Amino acid sequence: MKLTTVLCAILTLFSIQLENNDKNSVVPEKNKHTLNYVRQKSFSTKKIQSTNIHYTKITEIVNNLMGNKEIKKIENLYDIHFDLMYYLVTFEDSGYLIYDLEAQDYQEYSETSSSPYLKYENEMKIYVGPGNYCYLDDGTLKDIASGNTISASDQNNLETIYENIQDSKEESQNEESTDSANDTNSINSLPSSYDLPYSYYFTNLHENYADNYLGSCGYIALQITLGYFNNFGGQGGLIPDEYIEKEQVYSEDPSQWTESAGSNYNFHYKLLTIGSQLNYSSAVSMSQLKDIHDEYNDQFASSYNFVSENNILTAFVNLILPSLLYQNYVVILGVSGIDSNVLPGQNIRHAVTAYGYVNGGDGYRVHFGEKELDLTNVVIKDYTIESYFALKYTSSHKHSQNYYYVEPEVITYMCPCGEYSYHYHDWEYTNLTSSSHTKVCKECNATIENEAHTFIGPGIFKTCSECGYSKLPSVGS
Ligand SMILES: [Zn+2]
Ligand SMILES: [Zn+2]
Ligand SMILES: [Zn+2]
Repeated sequence: MKLTTVLCAILTLFSIQLENNDKNSVVPEKNKHTLNYVRQKSFSTKKIQSTNIHYTKITEIVNNLMGNKEIKKIENLYDIHFDLMYYLVTFEDSGYLIYDLEAQDYQEYSETSSSPYLKYENEMKIYVGPGNYCYLDDGTLKDIASGNTISASDQNNLETIYENIQDSKEESQNEESTDSANDTNSINSLPSSYDLPYSYYFTNLHENYADNYLGSCGYIALQITLGYFNNFGGQGGLIPDEYIEKEQVYSEDPSQWTESAGSNYNFHYKLLTIGSQLNYSSAVSMSQLKDIHDEYNDQFASSYNFVSENNILTAFVNLILPSLLYQNYVVILGVSGIDSNVLPGQNIRHAVTAYGYVNGGDGYRVHFGEKELDLTNVVIKDYTIESYFALKYTSSHKHSQNYYYVEPEVITYMCPCGEYSYHYHDWEYTNLTSSSHTKVCKECNATIENEAHTFIGPGIFKTCSECGYSKLPSVGS
C-alpha cells in the first residue's frame, strides 16, 4: 500500500521536473518562505519557561532544607487579592512548604507539622504571610485558625501585612535585580492542548527505528527523541551519519513526508553498548536512561547543548509534564497498567515518547515505539505515569541532511526548516566491462551499477563519453 503511494508521488514530481528543468528550483522560492514562517511560529514559545523553573526551584529548595522528603502535591495558593502568588507543597509523610512564585523562594516550611490548609483541599486557599491562613467559603473569606469570617477591620490588617510583604520583597528583588516580573502571569498561560512543532515526525515514524527486544523500549524512545532533534529540531549531525536511515522525500511540504528519517539498528546497538558499559540491562529506568544519554552526548555529540530532567512522579504529573512539553521538551514516559482505549486488557510496563498533551494533561500524545503495534499517534489517558525523562536540545540551528530528493545527476537535501542544498554528483567510475561501467559519487556515495556505456566517436574507435572506456572496432562494423 505504501509502495503505491510513493510511486504515485514519484511520477508526479518527475512530471513537474520535466516542465521546469531548472536545477536550482527544486524547492520554489514561495515554499521556502512558507516553511520559514511555520518554523518561526512554532519556535516562538519562550513565554512559559517559568512553571518549570518553579518546579525545579522547589525541588532544589526541598532537597537543601529537608534532604530526602518526597513531594506529594503542589497546589495553588493565592494572595489577599486572589492572585496566584504561592505554591503549597506537601510531602509524602508529613510537613509542608509555602513557596513564593515572585521571590522564587520559600516563605515558611515545617518538616513535621501538617499543612495549615489540610482540611481545605477543595477550597481556594489564601496566604497572607506566616500565621495568616485563610480560605474562601462560598465567596466569603474565612480565617482557618478560628473558622470565623474575616471582618472588615481584619481584612484591613491583612491588607497592611500584604503591603509589607510586597515592600520587603521589592527591596530584596531590587538588590538581586531578578527579572521574574512576568513569571506569575505565565503560570496559567498553558494552552489546554499542545503538540510539539513538527509533531508529524513522530506520527510518520513507522519504519526507521529499531525493534524492541528484551524490553529495550527505553533505548528506542531515546533514539526516537534524538532523531526528532536531529531531523526537525535543527540539530543536524546530532546522530552520526552512519547511524541514520535517510529518507527520500517527494514533497516540499515536510508534513507530507510519509516516513521520517530515523536511526538504524546499529544505533540501537550503540546505545545498548553504552548502557552495558554503565552496567545497565536492556530494560532501564528513566534515571538510567538519563545517564545513558549523558554518556551518549559525551561520546558522540559533545558540541551539542541540551537540557534534560528526570524524576519519579507522584501526585503532580499534570503540573509538570504539560509545561515541559509546551517548552518543547520531548518527554519519555515510564508508564504501567491498563489503558483499554489503547491496548484493551493488556497490563503493560513500557517507555513511550510523549510529544503532546490534551485537556491540560488529561491525556498525552505518544509514540509507542513498538513496530508491530504501529501506534505512532495515540493519546494515553489511563496508564499510570511512573517516571519521566525530558530532553531538549538547544544548540544553534544546523540543517539536517537526512531528507533528500534524487534526480539522475543531482541530489537535493531538504531541512524541514525550509532550507535546502544540492550538488551535482561527482562520479567515480569502476567495474569497466566491454558494455558497462559502475559509478559512485565521491561526495554522497550515490551508486549506479552496471550502467551501459554511452559510446561516441566519429571513426571506428568508440569511447564512452562518461568513463572514457574505449572499445576496438567489432568485426563487420
Ligand atoms: Zn534547517
Ligand atoms: Zn552525489
Ligand atoms: Zn562508460
